This record gives sequence, C-alpha cells and structure tokens, in this order.
Amino acid sequence: MQIPGHIDPVTTGTVPLRGGNRVDLVGLTRDGIRAALEEAGLDAKAAKLRSKQIWHWIYHRGVTEFDAMTDIAKAMRPWLTERFIVGRPTVVTAQVSNDGTRKWLLAAADGQEYEMVFIPDADRGTLCVSSQVGCTLNCRFCHTGTMRLVRNLTAGEIVGQVLLARDALGEWPKGTMASAADVDDEDDDAGHYIADGRMLTNIVMMGMGEPLYNFDEVKGALKIVMDGDGLALSKRRITLSTSGVVPMMARAGEEIGVNLAVSLHAVNKEIRDEIVPLNRKYGIEELLAACAAYPGANNARRITFEYVMLKDKNDSDADARELVRLIKQYKLPAKVNLIPFNPWPGAIYECSSPERVRAFSNIIFESGISAPIRTPRGRDIMAACGQLKSAATKPSRAELDRIAEEKQAALG
Ligand code: SAH
Ligand code: SF4
Repeated sequence: MQIPGHIDPVTTGTVPLRGGNRVDLVGLTRDGIRAALEEAGLDAKAAKLRSKQIWHWIYHRGVTEFDAMTDIAKAMRPWLTERFIVGRPTVVTAQVSNDGTRKWLLAAADGQEYEMVFIPDADRGTLCVSSQVGCTLNCRFCHTGTMRLVRNLTAGEIVGQVLLARDALGEWPKGTMASAADVDDEDDDAGHYIADGRMLTNIVMMGMGEPLYNFDEVKGALKIVMDGDGLALSKRRITLSTSGVVPMMARAGEEIGVNLAVSLHAVNKEIRDEIVPLNRKYGIEELLAACAAYPGANNARRITFEYVMLKDKNDSDADARELVRLIKQYKLPAKVNLIPFNPWPGAIYECSSPERVRAFSNIIFESGISAPIRTPRGRDIMAACGQLKSAATKPSRAELDRIAEEKQAALG
C-alpha cells in the first residue's frame, strides 16, 4: 500500500513470535494455514484436510490446544504442538464497569500494549477493537493520538482480540464434538454441539489506531471474522471508523465491505484542521465526495458521521445547520453520532453542556437526519472513546505539545 507522506502507514516491523519458534496460526488465511502445514512436511492432500479441520477448531470452537482437536488423529496432535500454536494476546488487566462495560489491556509478544472494550446493550454486544498501538494522527481531543509509540497490529493480533473476547464471555460452543459431521447439525440433541445465544454480536474498529493506515492487516483480520465457517459475523455487524484516509476509502468498501463510520467532528476547514490534523491533507470536500462514492452505502446501510461535542469549538447551531447542508449537498445516506467529549488528563477541550448537545441534535433531527447522542459507557474504568490507555501513560502538558507539534509537522 502506498500513500504519500512520511508519517503515513507505519510498518508492522518484526514482531517476535508468540510461540517462540513455533508458528502462530491465528491471523493466517485458510490458505496460509495450509501452506504452513505443507512447509512443515505434510503432503498437499493432508495439509488441505488438516487446515480445514484446524480452521474450524480455532474459529468456530475457540480451541487453543491441538490435543483438544478430537477429529485429528491422536498421533498427529503432538506433531502439531511441536510446530504451531493457537495464540492469544496476553491479558495485562481486565476491568468491569458498573454499567457492564468491560475493558482489557492486552500485551503483544513484544510487550506493546493495546486495549479492547466490550459494551453490552439490551439488543446487542459490541466489541471495540484496536488496529494499532497508538496512532500517528494526533487528533487534539483524542488520547490515543498523544501516544508516541506507534506500531501496526498484525491480523493475528486484531482477530486475537475477538477470540479473547469470546473466551472471556464464555461464548464458544460447549460440549464435545465427536466428528466434523456433527458441526453441521446445530440441533444435535445428543449434546455434542450447542450454538448458544451470543453476547458479542457487533464489532467496531474504533479502538486505538487508524484502521485505514493498517489496511492489509485490518482487511485480513476482518475477512477471518466474517468467514462463514468460523466466527461468521456478518459485514452488516461490523463498522470501520476512519478519521478520513480518503485514498483508502473506496478500497475499504470494495475489498472489506463493512459499514463505514467517518470521524468528521467539524464542518469547516479552520476547525477541522485544528482538531483532526489529517484534514490538512484530505479536506472536507474530498472526504465527503469519497463518502458519496463509498461502495455499498445506501439508505438501508448509512454512513455514520461521528461528531465529538467540544464546548465552544464545533457545537453551535450554525455548525449543526452546516452539517445538515453538507450531508444534503453530497446526497449522503447518513446518520450522525454525537459523542460527548470524554476528557482525559491534559486534554485542552471541554465537553459541550447537555443542553447544547441536545439543541445540536434537535437541529439535525428536524432536517430528517438521525442524530442520536451516544451515552458514554464505562467511564469509571476509563473505557470511553479516546480514553484508552489513559491510566497507563500520563505525559506532561509540555510533552503533549511536543508530540502534537512533531506529528503535525510530519503531516506537512
Ligand atoms: N481512528 C479512527 C477510529 C478510532 S477513534 C477514527 O478516528 O475514526 C473512535 C472514535 O472516538 C472517533 O470518532 C474518535 O474521534 C472518537 N474519540 C476519540 N477521542 C475521543 C474523546 N476524548 N471523546 C470522545 N470521542 C473521542
Ligand atoms: Fe487516531 Fe482516531 Fe484518535 Fe484521531 S481520533 S488520533 S485518528 S485514534
């Protein structure tokens, strides 16, 4: 992937293998697993069969030990264990909020830390997944942008979050599976297999990082998540949020096909340049034109515009009217998500008053566009938007300014 600008996509670098010399199968495509098995010495036919079975155990059953893969010949299981692992991120801390929101601080094999958040609602459960450690983009209201260290997460580390959430929520099918044939029989009353009601129903790429700066790994991970023989989440239940990496938006629509959310946050150049510095590179007009061209967007599948409510910055009636005008000018099938700003130590903004947020929302609603106000969740455990990693790092004001300057200079 080539995007101009030297602070653009960071490389993943060399991440030490979680299993030492053993190959972690999580994050590989089906073909990737087959190739890994062949490379380890299986003939083509055996590799094909085993990769199919292993895929099913990893992504449908949540199994991490080859010993538990009961339809694989007993003698073969130690052979697999010697060469491969089915990895999980290391859990550094796990917290549960009094509103049921859960947050995990995870560590990769190289010690880099990233977070994921699970938000239960009456009708759904949403997992907020990270795509990078930190973020190069430094939106001025976002805590993740102040983190100096940035690295892309691998597809395995991204899909690993989903697997870990399923582990923690106890959501893998229970019981034993005598043969692969049982899998197709979800009503098997012999008790081999139970497709239980799921808590984790939706995924949003809204954790740490800019997913479109890590396109290949995010795409790889989401393809695995959507695979019908595994986690099998529909693309309609997955939303990718971008701060506006225009050149990658069409590809996201064509090659991944999930719902799109765009972090708009301001309706004119001056303010958006300030709070979302990427705007200096890809302006509002370009961004909205890319939204209008987003493959698959229609009235049934709207683009979500995220709008963080910052006191006296972007929250006037005139701003709300301009937002409506822009959405109509570009004929966008859109809804607006109003996010009350979540403060973090050192942040230079304040949240708009509840009355202001309500008035802003009303103006948009009155024009016929949905503009719900997002209820902050998990505030007591610092799990709300943009607060991730807050407790782990508290840079000084001077340091925050320096980081912002560096990143903004890099944007040109
Ligand atoms: N990088 C992507 C996705 C991660 S951020 C993006 O920017 O879209 C997910 C959402 O949380 C974005 O809309 C982001 O602007 C918002 N956000 C970040 N910090 C926030 C804060 N302190 N309060 C409220 N929303 C915030
Ligand atoms: Fe990065 Fe998104 Fe935070 Fe901006 S809002 S700094 S793009 S994570």
